[in-house]
Parts: sequence; structure tokens; C-alpha cells
Amino acid sequence: MSRLIAVLLLLLLPATAKAQAFDGLRVVFCGTSGPLPIAGRAKPCTAVQVGGALYLVDVGPESTENLMSWRVPVATAKAVFITHLHSDHIGDLGEFNMQSWVGGRAQPLAVVGPAGVDKLAKGMNLAYEDDHRFRKAHHEHGATFELPAGLLQPKVVTIAKPDGVAVAWKDGDLTVTAIRVAHDPIDPAFAYRFDYKGRSVVISGDTRKWPPLAAAAKGADVLIHEAQNNAMTRQMAAGLKTMGNARLSSIMADTVTYHTEPVEAADLARAAGVKALVLTHLTQAGLPMYSPETFAKGMEDGGKLDWRLAKDGMTIELPAGSSDVRFGAY
Ligand SMILES: [Zn+2]
Ligand SMILES: [Zn+2]
Repeated sequence: MSRLIAVLLLLLLPATAKAQAFDGLRVVFCGTSGPLPIAGRAKPCTAVQVGGALYLVDVGPESTENLMSWRVPVATAKAVFITHLHSDHIGDLGEFNMQSWVGGRAQPLAVVGPAGVDKLAKGMNLAYEDDHRFRKAHHEHGATFELPAGLLQPKVVTIAKPDGVAVAWKDGDLTVTAIRVAHDPIDPAFAYRFDYKGRSVVISGDTRKWPPLAAAAKGADVLIHEAQNNAMTRQMAAGLKTMGNARLSSIMADTVTYHTEPVEAADLARAAGVKALVLTHLTQAGLPMYSPETFAKGMEDGGKLDWRLAKDGMTIELPAGSSDVRFGAY
């Protein structure tokens, strides 16, 4: 071994040991756009690593590729929490399930969410039945490929009250609470709150400004909220109409009713009293008229706030036994 390699190994070892010893919530932004294609941004996906397990909140197209290229251990996945059944939030479920199973996941992957996740899991299991059978037949020598471990296992969470909450998952010190939000006509739609050893993060899913979410996020460390600047949306709709694309113009105009403006998300974060706000689901980040300054204009009019815009690969660490909020990146 050359001296240089030995020195490099010595430098790397403490970092590796430290990473393994981390106890807390670790968030990884695996997809930060909305339904439209934006280079460098996968569609909605927020990963939470805790207690040696990987959880996803939504699994939009291209998000599995992100996670795997960053070497996030997908085989440690236990559950995917679905906020709602829009395609940009579920499009990579089959790919993620297959990759984490082939990677060595030993148990079925739970698919937790509102009514409809049962149909989603059942349909995906059927669609991938042959793929899983082929892989088992070809690769099962030395490594085992249990077909039941490759299945999606639905868990429907029901919340009767429009402003209600329900425990969606419990595993040791981790509790995940589903919070009903307002993305009508897509109903029900959920946000999720992860609580672990006194640390917490709330992920809004898609919703218009919904004050009960501030109540459910009260005292959380970080709020990750969707955001859409409606002035930009209206500009885009008008532009598309002028260009003769009435169909896309009309679709674009429809979306102003069921998303949250950056300024509204900031108000909500202040009402919840969180330490930091991260805006995601940035459908508009690919538009020619987009700039972070125009998108976020007015966010601090209501008072000071620690906020930032999500990027694919951004990470947040919330160590147990501390009040630190550590932002980082892959
Ligand atoms: Zn969406
Ligand atoms: Zn949606």
C-alpha cells in the first residue's frame, strides 16, 4: 500500500465511523420538481433515513436513479409513504421496489397512504410479476430471491375528519403521523410527520395553504413544503394561449387552486414555529422566467425565517439529543 493511499484511508475512516454512528433523522431530497421535466430534478421524492432504515415519502419518476447513483442503501427500505395518487408522486414505485428487492431487501415493501394505495400495490405487483420471476430464475445461485419479499404490501390509512391526523407507522422510537391536507379534487391527500427521539420533520405533499397543517407541524424542527408561484403560473398560462396551446394553457390555469404560494408556505412555517422551511415540488424551476428571487419574493414580509429552496441531493441531519439542523449535500 502506498503511503498516499494509507493516509487517505486514515482520513476516510473516522468519517465512515461517524456516518455509521449517526442517530437521528436524516432527510435526502431524491426529487424536487413537479410533473414537468426539469434537467437535474427528479419528480417528487423525499427520503428519510432513521434507525438503519430507509423510508420514502413519494417516489416520483427518476428518483430511484438519484438514490442509487448517490449509493443510498435502497435495500434498507421499509416503507414508501404516498401523499396522494398523482402520477408524479408514484411513477417510480415499480422501479424502486424492484431495485431494492434485487439489492437484497429481505421483506415486502410497505406502501402506506390514502385509499387507493391498495389498488396501486396490487396493480404494480401484477405488472412486475414476470420481471421478478425472470430475475429469480436467472440470478438465484448463491443469493436468494424470495418472491414474497419483492411484493408491495399496502397499508391504507383512513382519516375521517378533513383536518384530522392518524398514526401511519410505528417502529421503535419512530412514529410517522399522516396529516390530512387539501389538494381537492384529489381527496384524500396526506402530509407526513416523522418524530424520532425528540426530532421531527414534516413533509407537506401537495396541498393548497392549509392552516391545520401548521397545527399538526407545531414544534417540528423542519417543514418541507410544496410551493408554486401563481403569478408565474398565470404568466405561463397566458403565454401558452398566445402560442396557440389552449389545452396546456387551461391545464396550467387549473393548478392555481390546489398548490401553495411561497409566501403562504412562509406564513404557515412561522405559525408552526419550525426552525427551518424548505420549499420543494418546484414545478416552475425549469421555466424561462424563473429565478429564485422572483419565485420567493415576499417570503420574509411576514417576519424573519430560515428558509431555502430544495435541490436534488440536498440533505438535512437532525441528530438525536441536539437541536441542530444541519444542511448538506451529496
Ligand atoms: Zn405533485
Ligand atoms: Zn398533486
